[in-house]
Amino acid sequence: MADKIQKTANLFARMWRDYLHVYWGRILLALFFLIVEGSTLGLLSWMLKPLFDRVFVGGDTAAIWWVGGAIFGLFLIRATTFVINRSLMTSVSLAVSTKMQTDMLRHIMTLDGGFFQKNPPGAMIERVQGDTIAVQGVWSTFISGMGRDIVSLVSLFGVAIATDPEWTLAALIGAPLLILPMLLVQRYIRRKMRQNRVNASQRATRLDEVLHGINAVKLNRMEDYQTRRFGEIVGRIRTSEIKMSGIGATIPALVDVVTGLGFMGVLWMGGAEVTSGERTVGDFMAFFTAMALAFQPLRRLGSLTGTWQIAAASLERIYAVMDLRPSITSGTRSAPPQDTTIRLQDVRMSYDGHPVLNGLDLVAEAGRTTALVGPSGAGKSTVFNLLTRMVDPDSGSITLGGVALKDFDLGVLRDQFSTVSQDAALFDETLRENILLGHPEEDQALRQAIVAAHVADFSDKLPGGLDTPAGPRGSALSGGQRQRVAIARAVLRDAPILLLDEATSALDAQSERLVQQALDELSAGRTTLVIAHRLSTVRQADKIVVIEAGRVVEEGTHDQLMAEDGAYAALVKLQFGDK
Ligand code: ADP
Repeated sequence: MADKIQKTANLFARMWRDYLHVYWGRILLALFFLIVEGSTLGLLSWMLKPLFDRVFVGGDTAAIWWVGGAIFGLFLIRATTFVINRSLMTSVSLAVSTKMQTDMLRHIMTLDGGFFQKNPPGAMIERVQGDTIAVQGVWSTFISGMGRDIVSLVSLFGVAIATDPEWTLAALIGAPLLILPMLLVQRYIRRKMRQNRVNASQRATRLDEVLHGINAVKLNRMEDYQTRRFGEIVGRIRTSEIKMSGIGATIPALVDVVTGLGFMGVLWMGGAEVTSGERTVGDFMAFFTAMALAFQPLRRLGSLTGTWQIAAASLERIYAVMDLRPSITSGTRSAPPQDTTIRLQDVRMSYDGHPVLNGLDLVAEAGRTTALVGPSGAGKSTVFNLLTRMVDPDSGSITLGGVALKDFDLGVLRDQFSTVSQDAALFDETLRENILLGHPEEDQALRQAIVAAHVADFSDKLPGGLDTPAGPRGSALSGGQRQRVAIARAVLRDAPILLLDEATSALDAQSERLVQQALDELSAGRTTLVIAHRLSTVRQADKIVVIEAGRVVEEGTHDQLMAEDGAYAALVKLQFGDK
């Protein structure tokens, strides 16, 4: 228990250090206004003493004016401080949650491929959005609601104690009854809340998968199946929310009972003292009003019991991601390589213990085209992933212009490569934005790129031209068009090394010719590695490297390898037809 409290306290302390402390000025100001706002309730009940003793009992009608004026003044102060407080707290809580969101996204983008395999996009979206908003929501209720209520209670109990400490004790007679249930409810809510955040992630993941895979869902008639799975998840969320709200409501309900007991205790003690003349009616009214006014804040605080546990559960999840460190880290060399010869020596690499590359040796000469061929699953794409450091090898050396890849600044290293792959990742933005990818726009360069990549062939015919949206994941374009957009990106990027993953999906003859032309123009003069699926590509390549089961089994030109009549010749017969 104690170390759990310690852990929660650490989470909040960390949030203060990372996010809140820069706003200490605003928070301090808000606290000041909170104290002013909260204490008006105490003052209000305090005003009832002169109202009763001097006006109603004493018959001093002139006092009506100043007592009434003072009470109105208190309400005015309350109204003003409420508005100021609300704006201050909202500005801080929004600043914190938006910074958390951007920090999380920036951090998540640095994490390794392994992370994204274990954490589906939906779950991450839920973490960046849902968890930060949960923290933000709690922070505003926590501070502005709870802070004001606590200050109100302190001021009201101040009035109560000043009026009569014994009456106050009598009013609090039932309070100990609250302690144990509050602790239990907190534990329960925290546990449930954690589960709920997991369920919310699953809900987002389901939605993400269904919506991204909508065609597969329809073609395989999975609508009922998906609806049922989704229904189960939201059903779990519903049940636990209902349970949490029911259990959470027990605390304000208990506050009702305890308050009832308190009122009774005060009536028994105080009523007798007033009728006997020992205390004035004003004393009693001020006290009673303070108690009555304390009732609402107490009840609200009771219902907030589990709320900070909600923030704790979400903060825990946020920090769990923020504490992950990528294993692929940047080197320090910021100078680009002198030449772009790529050399892999005895490279071994495995995914989760399954060996994929088994001592691969490969040299791709600068300015030449090297074609990688081999059966599917041989490890060709893995070579690309190693070069751009999407993954790191288990052992062996990979150098670019004689410098180990690891020594380069990651950004500088990736700037050396343009990748054009089968699944050109297009964003749901315009063609222009999909080609520029955040780079500054220069009309002439852009025009050259779209002409060279044969994008202009189709974009010029679109009514919106380059401003036509590409649709989610480029779904408004055909396969060949998507690939040409990817080529235009590469032209504009003008990186010295080109990594081409030829489409296996057959393009129609016309598209294929255009794509091929565009690629030929692009690769001229660049160091090019191509995962080849076309005979024409391998024929033209300066060198062909045959990869099987994670190692190089043959290399040479088309004619040399055909003459050898080995693995390559067999592959040509199998893959490209006997030519
Ligand atoms: P190729 O491009 O030659 O078809 P890949 O390099 O894509 O082959 O894959 C080589 C092997 O590595 C395959 O057996 C594949 O299943 C496995 N593999 C590729 N990526 C991953 C990954 N992210 N996690 C686990 N295994 C992977």
